[in-house]
Amino acid sequence: MTLKSPRALAAAGLIAPERATALAPVAARYAVAVTDTVVRLIERAGDPIARQFIPSEAELLTAPGERADPIGDGAHSPVPGIVHRHKDRVLFKLVHACPVYCRFCFRREMVGQEGESALSPADFERALGYIESHPEIWEIILTGGDPFILSARRVEEISQRLAAIPHVKIIRWHSRVPVVDPSRITDDFVAALIVPGATTIVALHANHPRELTAEARAACARLIDAGIAMLSQSVLLRGVNDDIDTLEALMRAFVECRIKPYYLHQADLAPGTSHFRVPIEEGLALMRALRGRVSGLCIPHYVIDIPGGHAKVVLTSSDVEKTETGYRLRDHEGRWHPYPPPD
Ligand code: SF4
Repeated sequence: MTLKSPRALAAAGLIAPERATALAPVAARYAVAVTDTVVRLIERAGDPIARQFIPSEAELLTAPGERADPIGDGAHSPVPGIVHRHKDRVLFKLVHACPVYCRFCFRREMVGQEGESALSPADFERALGYIESHPEIWEIILTGGDPFILSARRVEEISQRLAAIPHVKIIRWHSRVPVVDPSRITDDFVAALIVPGATTIVALHANHPRELTAEARAACARLIDAGIAMLSQSVLLRGVNDDIDTLEALMRAFVECRIKPYYLHQADLAPGTSHFRVPIEEGLALMRALRGRVSGLCIPHYVIDIPGGHAKVVLTSSDVEKTETGYRLRDHEGRWHPYPPPD
């Protein structure tokens, strides 16, 4: 059973009973959900798994530069559910709910809120219409929320509708489900993802090697054995994976599971997440250390989303320069942006 309140976390022994009251305002602002699988992974308070999912009072502190839409989805949303930042691809945000709520989530102001948990049927059709009318769109990135909370039947329907659009060739699903609720990855669910006419890719979000349990590895193997390519994405997080041994073990674990390390994200400027952010200098030093330990197979791109919707930049590239006050980041159109951004 998924734990959804500080009181439920206290009853399960994950927080002290007296903290349930202190954490009530946090849970009122940002949704809480901790699955059975995650509960079993937590060894002690504040360990790298607990830090990711157990709320903390620090979430009520908004640091300078933090904002509700840190990566600027809104600036590139032509219709509800679609973010069209790059010519050849769109994000398609199908749902606003997740099986777990990560305490550092970059869309924390948008997910887990009261009300509808998925795009309405009318908005879904409008989003599909937008994709159909833009022949330059080659890749669809299905996200949310976590779209793997949908039923196999709905996933199949969506996959078929997308694959029927002649210019859509890649259907990429972003999910945390294979690690936080691996039993959802049934044979039926896997079959629903595979459609003629388009290639299916699954990008797995995991941040600590202990998340890749035997059950999670088996769930990923079911996807890959069926012909689905897998990529990883992780967020660099203080107290979770900000040391070289953990990062190395995480990247090796992905590769052992036949998952290509893809992105290591600098944590976005989401409200109440400053306690998770690792300075860019430290992230760069970790990447240097990682390159000294593993082959290119295990190296992800260390990326940051430029606040304001100017897309990602690879932090180990010449598109990043140190300044007196922080950094400046060059977007794909050659424009420089200060980081952190002015308030
Ligand atoms: S699963 Fe993704 S969208 Fe959901 S809370 Fe975690 S980071 Fe946010």
